[in-house]
Amino acid sequence: MMAAHASSHWTEDLPPLKGRLEANVPLARYSWFRTGGPAELFFEPADQDDLCALLGTLPADVRLTVLGVGSNILIRDGGVDGLVIRMGKAMGQIARDGDCLMVGAGASDFAVAHAARDYGLSGLEFLRGVPGSIGGAVRMNAGAYGVEMADILVDACIMDRFGHIRTVACADLDFSYRHSGLSDRDVVVSARLRGVPGERERIEARMAEISKAREDAQPLRSRTGGSTFKNPPGMKAWELIDRAGCRGMTLGGAQISEKHTNFLINTGTASSGDLEDLGDMVRQCVADQCGVTLDWEIRRIGKRAGGAR
Ligand SMILES: Cc1cc2nc3c(=O)[nH]c(=O)nc-3n(C[C@H](O)[C@H](O)[C@H](O)COP(=O)(O)OP(=O)(O)OC[C@H]3O[C@@H](n4cnc5c(N)ncnc54)[C@H](O)[C@@H]3O)c2cc1C
Repeated sequence: MMAAHASSHWTEDLPPLKGRLEANVPLARYSWFRTGGPAELFFEPADQDDLCALLGTLPADVRLTVLGVGSNILIRDGGVDGLVIRMGKAMGQIARDGDCLMVGAGASDFAVAHAARDYGLSGLEFLRGVPGSIGGAVRMNAGAYGVEMADILVDACIMDRFGHIRTVACADLDFSYRHSGLSDRDVVVSARLRGVPGERERIEARMAEISKAREDAQPLRSRTGGSTFKNPPGMKAWELIDRAGCRGMTLGGAQISEKHTNFLINTGTASSGDLEDLGDMVRQCVADQCGVTLDWEIRRIGKRAGGAR
């Protein structure tokens, strides 16, 4: 089915919205890579009702894309057709509910780890090392140091593309390694995360350990998208990439990190095309040299320059 243009008549009769709705918004600043083209239509909801009001009017044939903080996404140079919804800070409230935290999808994982520490709840320390939003973490089943979202999520509020909201239990989200059963038509609005009462100092110490380990192992101050490829069962993607001789490999302004070979880097002048093509070259090298096919972990969205998907 051809996607309708988001800027067609549909936007002329919208209910009043509190958030920001704009056409043709450059998206590069919303991606950690700092690359990519514009959104045809861009919306940052002010609250859940706002999101519901807009989605309630969205024609079925307008493509929907959801963005968190863009730490695991490559936005292609030709931009993204349809409506892009960014779940920002306005959708990021954090509140305690017994041994749980009720967290808006726009909250940063970092802020949630700190809030859990302040409430004396342990088990969420790993979020200190994941630089995304809670919505992105649920969608990707983000994890680190042996803990992932599936271990701490009680349930999540999900809005479908027609504005209907439902609460889904963790067991029904079909989580596996860096995967959830959510589709591109689902927007994570909030999540209930379970903690275990613990000593604040011990939680703080664990978070500091995680922070140091990250600093030592990852190019944190670079324009990157985190792990480029998923680890194949029983193997480490970075070791395969290293074995295939790709450490430091470049294409245009894109580079395979010298520090961590599963990280792609924009050295300053890369286009999304450079980054994606370098990633595909690495996949080919690993397939040729190691006989293993790597799957992209980074989500690639939109059209390539010139219009191809
Ligand atoms: C330096 C660095 C280190 C990283 N380390 C880790 C790590 O240790 N472990 C790990 O798991 N990941 C890691 N990542 C990847 C990334 O931080 C996580 O995948 C994170 O959960 C993505 O969240 P985000 O808000 O940035 O999502 P985005 O990158 O914006 O989006 C990622 C996907 O989630 C979807 N999405 C985002 N928000 C929502 C929402 N509210 N509702 C529905 N779908 C949504 C998007 O549509 C897209 O498909 C790292 C990234 C970087 C840059």
